[in-house]
Amino acid sequence: LNHNLFVTLRQHFPADLDACAIETADGPGAPLYYSWRDLDRASARIANLLESLDLPPASRVAVQTEKSVEALILYLAVLRAGHVYLPLNTAYQAAEIEYFIGNAEPAVFVTTQKNFTWVSRIAFAAGTTHVFTLNEDRTGTLLDRAAFQADEHTPAFKESDELAAILYTSGTTGRSKGAMLSHRNLASNAQVLKHYWRWQAGDVLIHALPIFHVHGLFVASHGALLNGSKMIWFARYDPKAVLARLPEATVFMGVPTLYVRLLAEKGLDRTACRNMRLFISGSAPLLIETFTDWQQRTGHTILERYGMSETIMLTSNPCDPADGARRGGTVGFPLPGVGLRIRDDAGQDLPAGEIGGIQVHGPNVFAGYWRMPEKTKEEFTDDGWFKTGDVGQRDADGYVTIVGRSKDLIITGGYNVYPAEVEGFINDMPGVAESAVIGLPHPDFGEGVVAVVVPKAGSALDGTAIVAALKSKIANFKVPKQVFIVPELPRNTMGKVQKNLLREQHRGLFG
Ligand code: ATP
Ligand code: MG
Repeated sequence: LNHNLFVTLRQHFPADLDACAIETADGPGAPLYYSWRDLDRASARIANLLESLDLPPASRVAVQTEKSVEALILYLAVLRAGHVYLPLNTAYQAAEIEYFIGNAEPAVFVTTQKNFTWVSRIAFAAGTTHVFTLNEDRTGTLLDRAAFQADEHTPAFKESDELAAILYTSGTTGRSKGAMLSHRNLASNAQVLKHYWRWQAGDVLIHALPIFHVHGLFVASHGALLNGSKMIWFARYDPKAVLARLPEATVFMGVPTLYVRLLAEKGLDRTACRNMRLFISGSAPLLIETFTDWQQRTGHTILERYGMSETIMLTSNPCDPADGARRGGTVGFPLPGVGLRIRDDAGQDLPAGEIGGIQVHGPNVFAGYWRMPEKTKEEFTDDGWFKTGDVGQRDADGYVTIVGRSKDLIITGGYNVYPAEVEGFINDMPGVAESAVIGLPHPDFGEGVVAVVVPKAGSALDGTAIVAALKSKIANFKVPKQVFIVPELPRNTMGKVQKNLLREQHRGLFG
C-alpha cells in the first residue's frame, strides 16, 4: 500500500473532477476558478519537473512565496514526488533564511522574483542545487519549467513513517525548531478531524490563513481537500472582504485576531452567518470576551482547538452537541487516538483540576526535531510521550484548559505565577481589551511580575488602579509590581503575543 499522503488526498477528490475546488477571492485576476482536475494536472507537472531534477530521495524543497493557489499546488507536487515540503514564513529575512537553509539543506528553494537575488546567493552558497521563482500572479521559472512537463504522474511510493514535511515552529519561545512530520502524522490527523468536525457534502471553506504553518496548510487545506470541498481562497486577510463572502461559506478557520477584526465590522450579524456551520479558532488563546461577543452577534459558538507544529491537532471542543458543549476558555477534549496527561515536574500524573505540564502521544506526534537529537531527547519522556511545553489542566468532565507555556511560568520569591491566571483577572476589569503578564529579572525575587495592558478603544486606564484592584482578588505575590499601558501587544503573523519582545523591552526595570 502506498502511504503517500497525496494518494489519500487524491482519492477523496469528488467524482466530478470539473467541479470547482478553489475560487480566488482576491489577488491578480480574481476570481480564478481551479477545478479538481486542475489541481491534479498542475501538481503532476510540478512533480514531473522535480523528478526530472534527479534529486536524492527525500530532498527538502524549501518554499518562501506569497500565498497563492500555485503555492498550494506546489505543496501537493512535493508530496506527490516523494520529497519533503518545507514552508517558510514570508516575513523571514536574510538572517533567518540563512539559518533555515543552513539547518535544512534544501536541494530546491522556491522564492519570489523580488527576493531571488539575495535568496539564491545564500542558497547556492549552502549547496542548494536549484532555485526557482513563483510569484503571486502565476509567473516565475517554476511554472515556466513545469509547463513543459506531462500532466500525468504516478505518486512516489512512501512508507507511512517516511518524512512528508518539516515545519519550523513559530519561534515564540526561542529559536525555531524543524518538526519532522511523516505521511502518517499528517494523514491520521486529517482523517480524525474530518470525522470530529463532521465535514460533510456541501461544505465550503473560507481559507484566509497563511499556508506556511500547520493551521492554514494542514488543518484548513487538508480538511477541504479530504472532503472534496470547495475553498474560497484569500491571499490576504481583509475582514470586510471575508465578511462579504461569509454567506457563501459553511466553515471558517481563524486565529483569534481574525475573529476580533471581524467583530469590528458592523455588518457581522446572524444574516451574514446564516449558512455557516462551523467557526474554528486556534494557534493562540481565544479571549472569553471574543467567544461571548461572537455568540451574541452571530448566534454561533466558536469551536476552539489546540495543536502545534510538532503534533498538528491535539484537542478540540466538540463539533456535535451529542459529544458535549463548546466551552469558552477551554480547548476541549483530546482528539480520538490522542493520549494526553498532565504531569508535575517530578513526573507524577496530576488529578483533575491541577495544573501541570501537558504531555501527549498518538499517531499524529512527530518523530523529532530535524538535526537536533539532543533537543528531541529532552522533549520526550522515557516512555515516549512528547512534552508539549504547554502548561494546563483537565477538569472533571475532561475539558483541557491551557494556562500558559512552561517557559512563561514566572517564579517570584519561590512562588509559581501562571501568567494566564493573572491576565484573566486583568482582562475582566472594565476598560481592558487585553493584557500580557511577564516575569522580569529581579534582584530580590529572582523574577518580578509585570503586566502590559491594552485599553479598549475610548477607555483610559490607570496602572495603579489595576494593581489596587488585583490586590483584593489574588495573592500578593501574583500581583504585578508594575503595569504598563500600551496601545497594542506585539504579535507575530499567527496572532501569538511575543512575550520575548516585551521581556526584552523592559529587561532592566528592576535593575
Ligand atoms: P516555538 O515552539 O518555536 O516557541 P510556538 O510553540 O509558538 O513556537 P507553534 O508550533 O506554531 O510554535 O505553536 C504551537 C503553540 O501555540 C502551542 O504549543 C500553544 O502554546 C499555542 N496554541 C495553539 N493553539 C492554542 C490555543 N487554542 N490556546 C492557547 N494556545 C494555543
Ligand atoms: Mg512550541
